[in-house]
This record gives sequence, structure tokens and C-alpha cells, in this order.
Amino acid sequence: MADRFFQNVMPDFVPENPNMIEEEVGGNRGRVQIHSQGTQDSLLRFLSLPYTSLSQQLQRAALDLKETIVVETWGLSRQRVDDFSLYAGTLGTACLLFKSFQMTHNKNDLSLCLEIVKACDSASTQSRDVTFLCGRAGVCAIGSVAAKHAGDDKLFDYYLSQFKEIKVSKDHPDELLYGRAGYLWTCLFLNNHFGKETIPATSTGAIVKEIIRNGRKLGKRGGCPLMFEWYGERYWGAAHGLAGIMHVLLEFELSSDELEDVKGTLKYMIRNRFPSGNYPASEEDKKQDALVHWCHGAPGIALTLVKAAEVFGDKEFLQAAMDAAEVVWSRGLLKRVGICHGISGNAYVFLALYRLTGIIEYLYRAKAFACFLLDRAHMLLATGEMHGGDNPFSIFEGVGGMAHLFLDMVQPKNARFPAYEF
Ligand SMILES: [Zn+2]
Repeated sequence: MADRFFQNVMPDFVPENPNMIEEEVGGNRGRVQIHSQGTQDSLLRFLSLPYTSLSQQLQRAALDLKETIVVETWGLSRQRVDDFSLYAGTLGTACLLFKSFQMTHNKNDLSLCLEIVKACDSASTQSRDVTFLCGRAGVCAIGSVAAKHAGDDKLFDYYLSQFKEIKVSKDHPDELLYGRAGYLWTCLFLNNHFGKETIPATSTGAIVKEIIRNGRKLGKRGGCPLMFEWYGERYWGAAHGLAGIMHVLLEFELSSDELEDVKGTLKYMIRNRFPSGNYPASEEDKKQDALVHWCHGAPGIALTLVKAAEVFGDKEFLQAAMDAAEVVWSRGLLKRVGICHGISGNAYVFLALYRLTGIIEYLYRAKAFACFLLDRAHMLLATGEMHGGDNPFSIFEGVGGMAHLFLDMVQPKNARFPAYEF
């Protein structure tokens, strides 16, 4: 399966060289002149830059990319929205504009964000999807936060009331991309921004209980206490399975028996992982140690284990997260750029461990993945050695994810995997 990823030949650590300063070349003030991009030499130069210089480079690259993404997903389509979702569609562009606004305070980004959310609002009125990543909940959530920052209280009220109209039905699954966990994540997002009773605990609590009830029906005492199904498969990963659902449950106040079941589920996964430290995509697929993605495999599960280490203070979870990070380092330099199953998403595993442990080598590893992208992603995409995917400008599948990561690298302790970590 070596063709899924690039062999990681980057050194285990490269110290920053304080003497390496930005050179002024040909009037191009502030740009570091790196010769022959895409070579081991150019990559090592990026890795030895003092962090402030590198983060300026990354921020500039992100803002340039944002302009391209706006043109490609909004300008060239004449503001038509085919896929409104944050995951692969136009809402991702709005999300990136908002992130850029938070960093630069450029009001044009905020107003364009609101314009795009308005189009996504119209495009999603008939949608039955209820989550942040793939449903109308994401539209209402980004809309309400952007409206608040723009000081438009009427618009804020509109998006919040639209969110409250969203109904989760018996037919929805429990997972993150299309189900209850993804709806609950949006409630947490709104409560984080606007105060914890914005969406009251009485309404979220009922859905938490429903998820636990469903999980116990398929779970086994002495085995995996909670288990869920999505289209007939019992997935383990963040997008459709156990890791994503456990991650959201850990954000809520659970009773002690519920907490024990979440803990037991994660311990079952650790006991049954592959010898490599990677995780199966599902119960049905325990033989193929292939995927090292956020959606399926070690990266998404590592983020949940970091969360579990924070909640339970249990060394076993921290150790398992660190083991998973080793898999991501050796096999996570994927031939895709995005957040869901690409290098950008995988870099967040190291950022989460850096935040939790303060170990500088984890920041280095995140930096190494970001520098790999900065140095050669455009070239590798142009030559076809990396795949652009079906939605090449989106956050979760395309270069939108790379822009998101580059912006997060500017303040790495504040970095959060989008639509997953708080
Ligand atoms: Zn994926």
C-alpha cells in the first residue's frame, strides 16, 4: 500500500537556525528565496527557518490560496451553489474567509463570508442533513457567528432561529458526518460562541441519551460497550464511527456509567488495534492495515485519544495517542492535501499532542508536514503525483484544508482540527 503515501524521509528533528533570516530578493521584500523548490534541500531550509519567519510564509501562502479558492468556488461559478456543505462545498469557502478575518481583521473577508453563507442558506432549505460538516446546521452556525462579528443582530437572530428549526429524526444515524454526533457538535459550537445555554442542556441531553441507548444495543458487555452502524458497517473512525461519536460524547457531562462505557469503548479499540499501532476502519475490516486518514484510521482516533487523555487523565490514552502519532509520522504523508484524508488533516494530530504535552518534537512534526505542503504541494498536484480529488478547492478534500492548516500554524497552540476539536 506504499502508493497511498510518500515515504517520509524528513529528519526526526531539525533545529531552527536563528541566523537564517529572510532575504530581500529582487524587491520581493519579506520572501525567503528558496532555490530549486521541491528538493530535500529546499525542504530542509524551510524546516530550519526561525518559527516567526516560517509562520509569516505560511500565512502569506494561506491568504494567496484563499483568493484562488474564492475565485474558483464563488467567482467562476457566478455565485451558484451546487454543494453547500462545509465538507466539500461552498460553505467551506465561507469558513475559510471567516478564519482569515479572525486573523487579519479584514472586513472584506467577513462581508464576503456572509454573502456566501446567504447563498448556502438558500441552497440548503430543503436539506434533511443536520450536521455541521454536511448539513444545514453548519450553514446556520457559521452564519450566526459571522453575523455576530459583523454586529448584525437581526441576521444573527435569523440564523440562530433557523438552527432551532432543524429536527433530528429517528432515521438519522449516530455518526458525525450525517448523524446525531454531528448535530450535537454544532450545539457545542454555538454554546462555545454564545454562552452555554444557547442550546439548552435539556435538548442536547436527550440526544446524548439516545446515542448511548443506541450504542448499548449493539455493544457487548466485556467487549466493546458501545457500537454503532452506518449503512450496515460498524465503523471505528472519526467520520462515521466510534472515534467521532466518542469524541463528541466526551464534550458532554455524562453519568458515571456512561463515562465508563465511553472509556471501555476506547480501551476496546486500543486492545484491538493493529500491531503497527494503526486502527481498523471497521469491525468488519480488521485484516487490512491500510488507511491512515482522519476519516478512517489512526489520525482521527488519535485526536479522540488526546481528548480522552484530557478528560480521564489516564496515561494509557496518552500513550495510545502517541503510538498513533508514530503511525501518522511514518505513513501519514498522504498523496492528498485535504483535511479528511490528506496531509493537512494528519498534521493536526501532532498539533493536538503538542498542545497536550508541550513536547517540541510534535510541533516540529506538524511543521514538517506543513513545510512539505508549502514546498511542493502545488508542484505535485500539477504533475499528478498528488490527487486533487473531486472537490479540489474544498476544505475537507482539497487545498482549502491546506490554507486552514497554514493559518493554524501561525498560532499552533490555538490550532484545532476543524469541525472536530474545541
Ligand atoms: Zn476522508
